[in-house]
Amino acid sequence: MKFRNLKMVTYVVYGRGSFNQLDEILAPQRKGNQPMIFLVDHFFENKPLVSRIPLRGNDKIIFADTGHEPKTTEVDGLALQLRKEFGLVSGIIGIGGGSAMDLAKAVSLMMTNPGSSADYQGWDLVKLPGVFKAGIPTLSGTGAEVSRTTVLTGPTRKLGMNSDFTPFDQIVLDPELITNAPVNQRFYTGMDCYIHCVESLTGTFLNEFSKSYGEKALTLCQEVFLGDGAWTSLHDDKLMMASYAGGMSIAYSQVGVAHAVSYGLGYLLGTRHGVGNCIVFDKLEDYYPKAVEEFKRMVEKNKIEIPQHITRDLTNDQFETMMNVALGMKPLWENALGPDWERVMTREKLRALYKRL
Ligand code: ZN
Repeated sequence: MKFRNLKMVTYVVYGRGSFNQLDEILAPQRKGNQPMIFLVDHFFENKPLVSRIPLRGNDKIIFADTGHEPKTTEVDGLALQLRKEFGLVSGIIGIGGGSAMDLAKAVSLMMTNPGSSADYQGWDLVKLPGVFKAGIPTLSGTGAEVSRTTVLTGPTRKLGMNSDFTPFDQIVLDPELITNAPVNQRFYTGMDCYIHCVESLTGTFLNEFSKSYGEKALTLCQEVFLGDGAWTSLHDDKLMMASYAGGMSIAYSQVGVAHAVSYGLGYLLGTRHGVGNCIVFDKLEDYYPKAVEEFKRMVEKNKIEIPQHITRDLTNDQFETMMNVALGMKPLWENALGPDWERVMTREKLRALYKRL
């Protein structure tokens, strides 16, 4: 048995208004004239948050198009652009949801590692530490703020740059920042956290470390999405910590069926992670019966619509592509279904599942 030696985020600040400390937090990380680069979700263009970013010297804000999840070509392009413009930079600060944070992590790594980010999609392929990187979530649930990966769509796969160099050096958890998230997006992203907890807690890789975080995060999700009364700031506080704890739970276990199947959708159709997970989880009553029933109550209570029939018009080849992507995520299947998973999840069964989505 080889135990994982878990690399964690180095610094964490939590609290309402902690974003106001950002200037002070970044000061010791500044190197001469090298700028801080703020990769900000385009949702915040012309919004008040942008004027609160503590720009110094030749710092730069780049709005990231998060209409899709980050691509390796986009990461490579941004890193190249920054190297041409500045040589080196002091750091990359990702402000936004999972996509903006993953983009920041990947660009930080590609400021120092040679070649293309596609070369590093996989486990422990990254060779050098990136530049300083910080993550500031404005949507909670993905756990991207604590994960050791950054999920990228590349030329041949959708897979993270999963390495000890990937976690942020600093995260700023300010629940005020998630207050104005669009309701649907907040739900889909929150359900990503809920699904992390379910997949971790029911998986064969479970241990007390993951369980401790997973159970707390699950309770917080239930309080947030099944509690009575209107949405309050307390919901934001709880959801932010649920995301953190859910991320910590899967960091020492693994996700499962919903994630594997959702990666196939994401790769072929560009379906975003949160909504993709919801589309899949909605149909996983055979694998997670109690949780799927609870999920459906959350959907109903929050008046959310889960897209249906998104694979209706796909060709046989397209089904094959999705199945290949999904079945490539071996650790996820093994966690969900045990070491004999290949006998349980046959291609026929998986095809039938994709057809229902
Ligand atoms: Zn997820």
